[in-house]
Amino acid sequence: MKTLRLDDPDSQDDLQTLNKLISSTRKIVVLTGAGISRNAGIPDFRSSSGLYKQKYSNGTINCRELFDVSIYRDESTIRLFNEFMQNMYYQKVKCAHPTKTHQFIKYLNSHKKLMRCYTQNIDGLERRLGMRTEFDQLNDWNHIDVVQLHGDLNTLKCSRCFKKFKWNEIYVNQKGAKEDAGFLIACPSCMEEYKKRQKEGKRCCQSSIGIIRPNIVLYGEEHPYGEILAKNLSKDIIRNPKLFLIFGTSLKVNGVKNLVRKLCRRIHRNVPDGKVAIINNAKICQSVWDTYIDYQIVCDCDDWCDYVESCVPRLSQEPKQQKKRCVKGSKKNSKNEKTNSIKLQKWPEHECKGKRKARQLQNPDALENERTKDSTRDRDCKRIKREIMVL
Ligand SMILES: [Zn+2]
Repeated sequence: MKTLRLDDPDSQDDLQTLNKLISSTRKIVVLTGAGISRNAGIPDFRSSSGLYKQKYSNGTINCRELFDVSIYRDESTIRLFNEFMQNMYYQKVKCAHPTKTHQFIKYLNSHKKLMRCYTQNIDGLERRLGMRTEFDQLNDWNHIDVVQLHGDLNTLKCSRCFKKFKWNEIYVNQKGAKEDAGFLIACPSCMEEYKKRQKEGKRCCQSSIGIIRPNIVLYGEEHPYGEILAKNLSKDIIRNPKLFLIFGTSLKVNGVKNLVRKLCRRIHRNVPDGKVAIINNAKICQSVWDTYIDYQIVCDCDDWCDYVESCVPRLSQEPKQQKKRCVKGSKKNSKNEKTNSIKLQKWPEHECKGKRKARQLQNPDALENERTKDSTRDRDCKRIKREIMVL
């Protein structure tokens, strides 16, 4: 694993290799972590100012514990958890804007270069750029751009019936956001069912009423759609991604480590010239990732995205001809890799042999002149193609 820096002259050749790969392939898989949302004002976890270094509720609880499933051990800690997440949503996530890195991933998607983006983030900022994220509908895999591995803080769900709610459906409409902070709210849907059974004289049990919780996956908690996720991840891996870009994560979470190892193994075994790069402010552990990752680029994710866009300027422009959207993973979308680079020029189409033969019989001299023109044009085309490939 080589360590690269944007301002290091010795890193430039390898950085250019990545630029060329981004320009030429449409088989890119992305993994993102909290580092890409830090510039949007959403705190990360493990940096020096990250949440794991902070305490909550006058120092009575470490923020790290608030993201662990053990928070559900008793009612008092559940209240703290709800209050913390409510503040996080209203004060950070709701008012945040996507960063340069989110925009870069959106560009990859617009140019049909992105096979899939997996994110550990719960802020859902990709959706604000029009990318398709559906945490609860992983069955519809072909229509998902961004897979939210740890859920989505923009919605709430019932712990019992799993019905989803918007924050304002639960906290603002019923009692008001701030006054309710930390209250345990019974699921309106479960309550309705409970009352209905009560009226009908059927057996009722209070434990059948769920409580409302943020729609996120905590550490130590099983992903509610884990099986579907694993099955579809395998499908993505089998499609042989050519470039795997990892943004803003220190790769410390076990499930994510496995995902990264699987993708890296596949790329290095099956894809000639395939590359894996991590872009992060802090270095990752060299001994653990040395054989899996080709490059670690030590810089702010947004700075690297700016750099790539300056080297591949067409990337930041919306494609001119918006063809009918291909379904991810469909035959149309996985056509010949040679057609995958961003098209800067329409190549002349060659006349078929049959037509040319017929015209030769009618006017042999005119055709000879055309042949000379064609060979000059072909040489020009090849030259332009070469220039584009070294963008
Ligand atoms: Zn419910």
